[in-house]
Amino acid sequence: MTNVSLSSPVSVLYGIGPAAADHLAKLEINTVYDLITFLPWRYNDWTSVTHVSTCEGGNEASLFLTILNNPSVNLRSRTKSVSFMAGDESGRIKLMFFNSPYLVNKFQAGDRCFVHGELTYFAGAPQMVNPFIEKADKVSTSELVRPVYHMTAGITSRQLSRWIKTALDLCGEELKCCIPEEIMKKENFVPMAEAYRRVHFPETLEDASAARRQIAYEELILLGVGMKLYNRGTSVKEVAEKVVPESGSELAADVSKRWKKIVEGLGFALTGDQRKAIIDIQKDMMTDIPMNRLVQGDVGSGKTAVAILAMAMTALMGKQSVMLAPTSVLAKQHYNNACRILEGSGINVVLLLGKTKASVKKEIKEKLRDGEASVIIGTHALLTDDIEFADLALVIADEQHRFGVKQREKLLIKKELPNGINSVHNLVMTATPIPRTLAMVLYGDMKTSVIREKPAGRQAITTWFAASKDSPDTKAALISMLESGQQAYIVCARIDENEDEISDDSIIGREESDEKSITSVIEMKQKLDESGISARFPSAVLYGSMPEQAKLDTIEKFLSGEIKILISTTVIEVGVDNPRANIMVIMDADRFGLSTLHQLRGRVGRGKEKSYCILVSESRSELALTRMRMMCESQDGFELAQKDLEIRGPGDFFGTRQHGIPTLRAANLYTDLTIASEACDAVNALLDKGGSEADVIRKNIEEMFELRFGSKLGVL
Ligand code: ADP
Ligand code: MG
Repeated sequence: MTNVSLSSPVSVLYGIGPAAADHLAKLEINTVYDLITFLPWRYNDWTSVTHVSTCEGGNEASLFLTILNNPSVNLRSRTKSVSFMAGDESGRIKLMFFNSPYLVNKFQAGDRCFVHGELTYFAGAPQMVNPFIEKADKVSTSELVRPVYHMTAGITSRQLSRWIKTALDLCGEELKCCIPEEIMKKENFVPMAEAYRRVHFPETLEDASAARRQIAYEELILLGVGMKLYNRGTSVKEVAEKVVPESGSELAADVSKRWKKIVEGLGFALTGDQRKAIIDIQKDMMTDIPMNRLVQGDVGSGKTAVAILAMAMTALMGKQSVMLAPTSVLAKQHYNNACRILEGSGINVVLLLGKTKASVKKEIKEKLRDGEASVIIGTHALLTDDIEFADLALVIADEQHRFGVKQREKLLIKKELPNGINSVHNLVMTATPIPRTLAMVLYGDMKTSVIREKPAGRQAITTWFAASKDSPDTKAALISMLESGQQAYIVCARIDENEDEISDDSIIGREESDEKSITSVIEMKQKLDESGISARFPSAVLYGSMPEQAKLDTIEKFLSGEIKILISTTVIEVGVDNPRANIMVIMDADRFGLSTLHQLRGRVGRGKEKSYCILVSESRSELALTRMRMMCESQDGFELAQKDLEIRGPGDFFGTRQHGIPTLRAANLYTDLTIASEACDAVNALLDKGGSEADVIRKNIEEMFELRFGSKLGVL
């Protein structure tokens, strides 16, 4: 046992066999460090001791009792129950235990003991069944504040506690401190090993919560500062120098001519914010630090054009770039856009989806390996495959919040590939407005370009609320738009009546009593077919679990105008871009959170035409109605996010789910945001200043970051 370290697998610890190790892996506990940092989610406080007579039936109680008669096994009972009487000065109580015959030898009349359990009345007399029991002189205070861990089958809190104790005894001293001395003093923090001891084996709840605060502090430093240190890669200056070729050279003239042609090929003039974002990107790629930039722009603000131009820029430098989209539908659309814009530029664009045929895949992979293709668009299938790039310089993640943690982890694969890919530039596109402090913690020192300006000629989307599903106004609006040659979306909260409603994690505070019948995609399709609407205006359904090809075909037909009404689930939430679809009806709109509603609505109003969004809901819940009203009053994602925060505190508009970050163990990204920026600022200041403490802290952060997040983070 001498060479156990924090990074050792848990199975090196005494008592953890292969089966237990498997169970622990389900809790994401793989290393000794993981085990130590797996915190209790709550505590049972057994410290307040009461008396038999003052305790009400049905409540849990802690009692100090004297055993009144020698415990005996009831031989007639199948479970070999053991029972005996015990009492304190206030009264007597019967204690009963099943399957614990050993108690007979452990206790006898006259012993003082501590018990904790649920007190009930049986035939008028108080009793406890299977309480916790220990000799009074053996219970230490630290046993009375009992940690409760999130469990998985096969492991008990007691076992976990024991293992954690072993781990702390063996490796506690290896837990390095990442908090500067000054803060340690100011906050009365203790050495890290002691902090972990206090959360796992606290004497009081106050101790536990102070220790947890310290651990949160450290966790936020690891995330905020560690990420920044981690993201520093090797030099990519050589890549960037070609972005702005020396003026006068032939190469420069050729590149700028091609660049100009591409920009002209967009078919519209860039907005000021789009242009600014592109210049930001270009500047980043000129430095010797890999770019780490977030392009934040509301739905419809034109992020795709920025992404494609960034890729074109990279291609003109003779390098490759990858754009990852969360769905194949979106990837296909980006691909079509890129092909259109880059047509005749000599830049080779390829599309790679999970379902791409093996033979075609092989061909594409060859093109990537020998550098023939320089713009690569695909879904995360791209990440899993054994792909080699000739010269990858830029990775763009579109609608980044839609990538799950798992998928982001896979981005790490690229880091292990040859070609110095860990020095790749990173660009993340998102419609989610993220407050600066949160962004700093999530992305380290990721820089942000904000696109607030909407493309010219856009009209406001008129949004209204229909309190009934049979509202004639909704139907009239729909028909009149269709008659004028426009197309329509109808969004439903479930696919068919057998399926559970599609859960929208971005919604909180939904009331149970709200259970009204939810219109499904299939029902809606039938309704349109039966009422003859489909005969005049062809309709089709779209949902996530449809076969990939069917989805792509449906979208294609919708884009070409063959299908006039698209009845869909929230799969259209991201990306689908059809400027001729200018009315959206959202059925059971109360089923969706604000961010989803806003994203959905962003599918209309993408052209010059006037557009409409109708929110249909029969819910009368106050929260739901407030959301509907907010949607009707504002169409600015930043403003909606702000209002959302106001009405219910930091909610799920910025849900961590959406950011796909690894689970934090002690810190809460919302409530601890002030700690986060304070802590990170202090550490950054120290590191910038330099000196011996800075060196130690930097080293400690790097070491702990690797243990905490090392295997879990992608290049983002
Ligand atoms: P998002 O930011 O939601 O990804 P898109 O990139 O899909 O938005 O752009 C929305 C629509 O606006 C597309 O149809 C796109 O062609 C168009 N668009 C983008 N930029 C401009 C612009 N500067 N002028 C006019 N239309 C634009
Ligand atoms: Mg987009």
